[in-house]
Amino acid sequence: MADQAMLTKLLDVRILFLGPPGSGKGTQCKRLKAELGLPHLSTGDILRQGIVDGKAECLKAKTYVDSGNLVPDDLMILIIRERLAQSDCHRGFILDGFPRTLPQAKSLDDMLVSLKLPLSCVFNLVVNDEVIVERIAGRLNCSNAKCGAVYHKKNAPPKVLGICDICGSPLQQRSDDLPDIVKERLKVYKELTAPLIGYYTERKLLTEIDGSRSQDEIYADIMRNLETCVNAGG
Ligand code: AMP
Repeated sequence: MADQAMLTKLLDVRILFLGPPGSGKGTQCKRLKAELGLPHLSTGDILRQGIVDGKAECLKAKTYVDSGNLVPDDLMILIIRERLAQSDCHRGFILDGFPRTLPQAKSLDDMLVSLKLPLSCVFNLVVNDEVIVERIAGRLNCSNAKCGAVYHKKNAPPKVLGICDICGSPLQQRSDDLPDIVKERLKVYKELTAPLIGYYTERKLLTEIDGSRSQDEIYADIMRNLETCVNAGG
């Protein structure tokens, strides 16, 4: 747990997470959000919630999400631009699932320059395909999108089978977590998103995190690196 002075500094960090589906980005982002109070901008969550709410731009994205393909860049850029303009993002934020292509990364750079909010650090959660397939196969999500709790049948089961510990809603498997769609998502990640590792390495923003360890070990590693980054003025 960071001390009070460090927590205050951490309100001004802009963090971006890279990593394949199932690498644990969402879980770590939720913990960071709870500890630091920073908004967690997950484009996957924004799309899923928007589809449930019947928002026009999210409904346009539905066929892509259902098939495990990427939603077109112009639509995603529009969605994230609107979200970054909201007042809770005026200091720090955690980006999870955006950018996912080089054009999205370049647009994000432009947006952040105009907002005068440069990225502080980028974490790349490194996990091999075998671990990912095992994690996703057992993943269960709370059906209440506003709650968003995530469980794992074996590694993090709910107290009552099939029921969310936090809000009591039924748990369900995400339709894009079915094996064939996961294969497609991993292929898309390797082709279109993995090149961002080089993009942010060149900009000296990237830190690799071994995402195959326990949630607590990964979180401690992220916090250590975040404090180093803040102390270095990042
Ligand atoms: P996630 O919850 O991050 O795994 O995202 C679920 C799905 O939402 C992805 O498989 C894509 O179809 C879509 N999606 C989320 N973020 C993006 C993005 N930045 N660019 C394109 N599609 C996205």
